[in-house]
Amino acid sequence: MESVFVGGQTYLNYINGEWRTAGTGQTVPSLNPAQKSEVVGYVQSSSAEDLNQAVASARAAQQGWRKLSGSARGEYLFKMANALERRIDEVAETMTREMGKPLPEAKGETARGVAILRYYAGEGLRKIGDVIPSTDSEALMFTTRVPLGVVGVISPWNFPVAIPIWKLAPALIYGNTVVLKPAQETSVTAAKVVECFAEAGLPGGVLNMVTGSGSVIGQGLAEHPHVNGITFTGSNQVGKRVGQAALARGAKYQLEMGGKNPIIIAADADLDLAVDATISGGIRSTGQKCTATSRVIILRDVYEAFKEKLVVKLKGLTVGNGLEAGTWLGPCAHEKQLETVQSYIQKGMDEGAELLFGGSVPDSPDLAEGFFIQPTVFDKVAPDMAIAREEIFGPVLALIPVDSMEAAIQLANDSDYGLSASIYTQSISHILSFIQDMEAGLVRINSETAGVELQAPFGGMKQSSSHSREQGQAAIEFFTSIKTVFLKA
Ligand code: NAP
Ligand code: MG
Repeated sequence: MESVFVGGQTYLNYINGEWRTAGTGQTVPSLNPAQKSEVVGYVQSSSAEDLNQAVASARAAQQGWRKLSGSARGEYLFKMANALERRIDEVAETMTREMGKPLPEAKGETARGVAILRYYAGEGLRKIGDVIPSTDSEALMFTTRVPLGVVGVISPWNFPVAIPIWKLAPALIYGNTVVLKPAQETSVTAAKVVECFAEAGLPGGVLNMVTGSGSVIGQGLAEHPHVNGITFTGSNQVGKRVGQAALARGAKYQLEMGGKNPIIIAADADLDLAVDATISGGIRSTGQKCTATSRVIILRDVYEAFKEKLVVKLKGLTVGNGLEAGTWLGPCAHEKQLETVQSYIQKGMDEGAELLFGGSVPDSPDLAEGFFIQPTVFDKVAPDMAIAREEIFGPVLALIPVDSMEAAIQLANDSDYGLSASIYTQSISHILSFIQDMEAGLVRINSETAGVELQAPFGGMKQSSSHSREQGQAAIEFFTSIKTVFLKA
């Protein structure tokens, strides 16, 4: 791979088609979680004034952009996809350096970003309304859709390419202009992606990026009187504040938040496949997926056999720097995240769960400079323990035995969250009960809890979302308003 990384380079805001320094004159370093002494880059620490400029430019670009045909906007999205594809290695390497996920996963995510752009480019030519029979036989009644206007995108660090793109691509194709506020932890990666989009020649002001703290730029976007819609992915705590700020001024909002996703292992499950799915869903990306498996609910008949196979497989996982070939598990994305994971491991022990595997920082001297943690499994977890209820966002599994499938589904539903859930079984009746009774936006049978296809709706139930859906054709619901037209000669 060509070495494109330049340590310590400074990245700017992107406003009105120009790269601009923040008015504060301040930058913050973004660090490599595998090697904390390495600065991946410096990003602008922007103020409300920088945000105002970005919103004003998005607002000024609104009329020109919404008046283009869907296919003309689609042409820009195809160019954005091609530009990102050309720099896929550079973007993926930056992502791995900045947030730690192994390079093959970073490449896969960037390729997904390309595919999302192409998918939504095509949406520019698809139908946006229905004809509805009027009671007046001389009238034509139909619906059409119009953009919201300026959309604010607030994104997290765990999928620093895919999530901003699955928000901004539908926003743009339906005629909105965008101000992106990426997570600070991954703002260099975001800047690289926006560089690609700038290469694609988007008209100035259609897409803007302002980096800075969540409380200033994120909150500022949510409260800004000229931001018509806010799409947020991140924690519940912050999401609710964003939603409240948007609601208070009558703006549309969409929140995708946490999960505490269960996998159910039935007595008739193929245990080898179930173990692989549990590890892949729970440990890959260091457990930092909103759809990560966190609760493993196992029928008692196969509890011991499942546990044995799980431990054997866990021993084979390689923890290391995500840039090195062969690394399966990278570090936590930042220091605070590692501390959170460690505090939950401590809580699990304090509450009386049995540590079956891992639990510590790996002792290899090569890993001493990073935020690494071993894959960790707790045995004999009771459903009321913190590790069975709260989102950890780390490579930590809680094993919980149950006596029946009914109890398993009941326990799986005993959560404030409802993002994703999976079951391993061959029984049609178990599968049907699971599909019908599971309170989750994503139910997956004989497959891991993580895994989202860009052409299908994605989102959670209960506290996992604001009950809207992202991706696929569902995205049109958030990024447009329906206009009902009654037409008479
Ligand atoms: P976070 O702390 O909530 O941050 C998310 C974004 O909100 C960041 O850009 C952050 O900026 C910004 N922010 C922080 N404070 C804000 C405020 N007061 N007002 C407005 N914006 C603010 O979440 P995270 O730690 O980055 O991400 C992890 C969480 O995301 C987990 O809970 C995970 O489950 C969830 N997640 C959900 C999905 C899903 O689709 N359901 C997908 C991925 C992740 P800063 O970077 O400056 O703090
Ligand atoms: Mg970092």
